[in-house]
Amino acid sequence: MKVKMILPALAEAESPFWRPIKYSLFPPLGLATLAAYLSPDDEIDLQDQHVEALNLDDNPDLVIIQVYITNAYRAYSIAEAYRKKGAYVILGGLHVTSLPDEAAAHADTIFLGPGEDTFPQFLKDFKNKSPQKVYSSSVRTLDHIPPIRRDLIKRNRYLVPNSIVVTRGCPHHCNFCYKDAFYEGGRSFYTQAVDDALAEIERLPGKHLYFLDDHLLGNTRFATNLFDGMKGMNRVFQGAATIDSILRGTLIEKAAEAGLRSLFVGFETFSPANLKQSNKKQNLEKDYIKAVNRLHSLGIMINGSFVFGLDDDDKDVFQRTVDWGVKNGITTSTYHILTPYPGTGLYKDMERQGRILTNNWDLYDTRNVVYQTKNLTADELKNGYHSAYKDFYSWNNIIKASRSHDSLKHQLKHFFYSGGWKKFEAVWNFLIKTKNLNSMLPVLESILAKVHNKKGVIDSTVNYTHNEFSAFTNATPSESKFEATYPLPILEERVT
Ligand code: SF4
Repeated sequence: MKVKMILPALAEAESPFWRPIKYSLFPPLGLATLAAYLSPDDEIDLQDQHVEALNLDDNPDLVIIQVYITNAYRAYSIAEAYRKKGAYVILGGLHVTSLPDEAAAHADTIFLGPGEDTFPQFLKDFKNKSPQKVYSSSVRTLDHIPPIRRDLIKRNRYLVPNSIVVTRGCPHHCNFCYKDAFYEGGRSFYTQAVDDALAEIERLPGKHLYFLDDHLLGNTRFATNLFDGMKGMNRVFQGAATIDSILRGTLIEKAAEAGLRSLFVGFETFSPANLKQSNKKQNLEKDYIKAVNRLHSLGIMINGSFVFGLDDDDKDVFQRTVDWGVKNGITTSTYHILTPYPGTGLYKDMERQGRILTNNWDLYDTRNVVYQTKNLTADELKNGYHSAYKDFYSWNNIIKASRSHDSLKHQLKHFFYSGGWKKFEAVWNFLIKTKNLNSMLPVLESILAKVHNKKGVIDSTVNYTHNEFSAFTNATPSESKFEATYPLPILEERVT
């Protein structure tokens, strides 16, 4: 059987402000995970429109398309084109799960929720010529899932080909997040067996890993065993976790020992009223600065996520947020305009209040204002959002934030990581065009090298070599938790 798997490009990936590097970070892991259930005899063509031109002139038997909100219209038109040619088309992903009726009009079959239990069932039914119109996931387990078909991934086109997901979902319930909608009808947070996760890590070449889990520290027992197992593997890794998990117990120390070097943290807002509006209880009354200092003392860089436009925000929120990040040495900041995704509690609240201004999904990219604001006008919100990015990533602020760290090594790491990510667009574009992005991985690994955890002491066991410094000065950058990137774990999206 000929199978085509497609991740269509997000609408914002083609805007004039598109930074191609933002969309060339992670491979389509969700599709590669589903591919593992296909037969070894199947001829599979996996295409990611973010890194290659789509070839739509083929005639596959089965087409599988992953749908996010801002690629939905494009996904539907690709689906229609293939259906006209006689292919059987299935759609799955966050947007399909949120709006099944909309998606079903463009597909032979749709998938709701994660696909590990339903996709194998579909394949059996398809073989027996009796596929159903809708498959809705209810059995949630990662036991005995086959190894991801990483051979289908064009590794050289991505900065971070070693992305990995060892859990699904998250224990929290923020009302702007897709998580609850996507996992409705079953468990919404579960993990792989530790041994399976470690085996998957072993299969990945090189040193660097990026855990795309929504909350890598969400299950203390699992994370403890995982980090214990990773000790001695000589890995450096990045991931995401919540403030409360950073402050609780000693899990974060174990993570640092296992190789954690940068963490995506959802601060979102400093306002208790905004946290309540968002149902982000895990951040309420938590000492953000204590969490930041704890990470820095372990040599872990921080990518802070912040949301603008919650009802308690005023005109000063942008400057306050930037100043706080600079003062506290946040390495990279990801700013979002509040976006009520369909299917979420936030969308329902806004709809009830008559505040949804448009259902043009292309605008739901966290850079546009799609709802009626309260204390800010839409223009103030949009302009403030753009000025926050500009301010935070000014050279002046990059240098200032870098100098807030105690050790010289951490200062340098911060400087190259943040500056490199935002200031060397031409270099990134050249590497993407020449399909050499992956050649930057050693530089990223160097920047993620260990910093000694004693105040003011540089780790003498991991010194930069002359060549590494030369590479840096030749304008070789690295990444961050990559702003509002959509990392694409199995039919899933991070909004933390
Ligand atoms: S926003 Fe982050 S912490 Fe909140 S529910 Fe979603 S994944 Fe969990």
